[in-house]
Amino acid sequence: MGEDQIRERIERLREEIARHDDLYYVLDAPGISDEKYDLLVRELVGLERSLGASPDHGSPTAKVGGAPGNDFGKVAHEFPMLSLENAFSREDLDLFLRRTGDSGMCCELKIDGLAVSLVYKDGVFVLGATRGDGRVGEDVTGNLRTIGGLPAKISKDIPGRLEVRGEVLIRRDDFLALNSEREEQGLPLFANPRNAAAGSIRQLDPGVTATRRLSLFVYQVVSPERYGLMSQFETIYWLKSLGFPTQGTESICAGAEDLSVYIEKWRTGRFTLPYVTDGVVIKVDDLSSWKDLGATAKAPRWAVAYKYPPEEKRTRLKKIEISVGRMGALTPVAILEPVNISGTVVQRASLHNADEIARKDLREGEMVWVRKAGEVIPEVLRPDLESRDEDRRPFVMPRRCPACGSEAVKLPGEVALRCVNRSCPAQILEGLRHFASRGGMDITGLGERLIERLVETGMIKDIADIYSLTAGDIAPVRLVGDKSSRVLGEKAAAGVAASIGASRSRPSAALLAALGIRYVGSRVSELLADAFGGIDGLESVDEETLASVEGIGPRIAASVVAFFSDARNRNTIAKLRAAGVATASGGRSPHRGEGPLKGLSFVFTGELDGMTRLEAEAVARKLGGATPASVSRKTSFVVRGENPGSKLAKAQSLGVRIIDEKNFLDMIGQARGN
Ligand code: NAD
Repeated sequence: MGEDQIRERIERLREEIARHDDLYYVLDAPGISDEKYDLLVRELVGLERSLGASPDHGSPTAKVGGAPGNDFGKVAHEFPMLSLENAFSREDLDLFLRRTGDSGMCCELKIDGLAVSLVYKDGVFVLGATRGDGRVGEDVTGNLRTIGGLPAKISKDIPGRLEVRGEVLIRRDDFLALNSEREEQGLPLFANPRNAAAGSIRQLDPGVTATRRLSLFVYQVVSPERYGLMSQFETIYWLKSLGFPTQGTESICAGAEDLSVYIEKWRTGRFTLPYVTDGVVIKVDDLSSWKDLGATAKAPRWAVAYKYPPEEKRTRLKKIEISVGRMGALTPVAILEPVNISGTVVQRASLHNADEIARKDLREGEMVWVRKAGEVIPEVLRPDLESRDEDRRPFVMPRRCPACGSEAVKLPGEVALRCVNRSCPAQILEGLRHFASRGGMDITGLGERLIERLVETGMIKDIADIYSLTAGDIAPVRLVGDKSSRVLGEKAAAGVAASIGASRSRPSAALLAALGIRYVGSRVSELLADAFGGIDGLESVDEETLASVEGIGPRIAASVVAFFSDARNRNTIAKLRAAGVATASGGRSPHRGEGPLKGLSFVFTGELDGMTRLEAEAVARKLGGATPASVSRKTSFVVRGENPGSKLAKAQSLGVRIIDEKNFLDMIGQARGN
């Protein structure tokens, strides 16, 4: 390439990378995979170097992250929050060791989350910010307060300002639960846990953040010399002693040899952790050399991130099966020859829809490349074209539902084909499975295989029939595919029957979620059950009233009304009621009411100093407390802020205990055990 061509390519790469940065950092919705992105950046770095010039300020190679969004207050970082230099090979690591003098290194796992800065004043958490562009971040204090592991108050007396840095993340399980909830609500799915964590922290309503089950790990103290800290290793222990969550994966490495051992140990060891890590961060352990080593515009020179290459495996795409969802959506699923990827055996992967299969040109029977997106979701990447047998024909999506044979239709605005036969056995099965699942009526033992047999033998036809089953009915059932081909037996049957009985008094929000109304997952169910007093109060509500509830949009409202106006659904609910299933409100929602503040209720009045009322309520609820809108004799505490309103007088007249913001912070600090 001539110099002009190089310059032209540099310009094009800069534009392309800037576009992807926006999608990733600002919208939390990446347009390409991290590996593809990293390749673009590496090409740009190479070209910029080939011209011998250091990258100018316009280049993404000299910038950190993305611009802070306008929806949040801005926080200027006292010290810049930088990114990390990447090392992809042994050579890159050797170079780093030579540059830093090959001294002792502190190695930690690189958490794939969102960097945050946490500021404490006299030991109390007062300000939290995202990294933003490294100089200015977004004020997300209220959202951070909803994270259970974040100490509201630290356990030692540290006067003045203390700034700690770390990473907000979402664990694999919580990520999967969040995405399945979003799928139910028809919302776009998060591409990976990192984007889910970032999207959750950058929420305008802390109440939403509070439902996301975020976690936190910290790893850095700003100005460590103020606290007499000498090494990175010691810093992590110090942070732990203050009550901060730390990973516990840190280790001191004396040189290249030790480093390799650490890297190899965690190459696959990290898959046993409940959260996603994408590499190892190697830091010079001696903090006194950090200042001397300094930083570039983008990253400190005292650290480097070794990134593990994503695991891609080759396996056979045995066939493409069509699964029929609870709402009738036909989803093609890749059935794979079992292959171990990122710590688990993968044998199925959703192919989403026919367009996706055509785009990737996947054909049944041939070899394909598979990976786990964000180390969690199995994904078929592409066919292995080198081994392609030209006889294999492109996949054709069936026009009929594989379960009931009815013609599949494409509804306006949807990509998926749908079976619209309400009596389709596959949909009925899925509906029953959903009803009995943990997020629904939580009927232990009533799993997929038992449900299948019960439907096949005609013992149940709809969800209400479950409540007419007795232990005597279930005990002789022979499970499909059970190798021993034994019957369920009396003991197991008694367990299932007891669990069915117990589910009669599940909270109304759980019943609502179990019904499988489109767009109504567990969070929406909680809102609806709280607002309308359970199913009983919902049956005759109109769209307008529904949509007046905060968090309920017109699409959900229309779906709820459509569900309750269908005579068949009304009939099922009548049957459930007759079978003794609680349909009125009373039981609390499944997630709420659990936690250290369980049984206590808080009403806030006036302006609080460190957070808004909405934020304070979210924190109290997150810890299991209730936050009714008004004061009554039953209220445990009224939290008084500046310029309190009439609630204060009411609390005084009723003799309700009045506390201030500091008391409240102490209480949540204690509730969290710090
Ligand atoms: P990075 O994620 O590669 O590494 C820097 C960050 O690592 C730090 O800011 C810190 O927050 C974090 N970190 C995690 N554990 C740590 C630990 N133990 N100690 C210190 N720091 C730790 O860099 P980045 O600037 O945040 O993001 C760049 C990366 O993001 C790219 O390499 C790419 O993978 C991805 N990205 C992807 C796209 C896309 O379109 N797919 C776009 C932009 C960025």
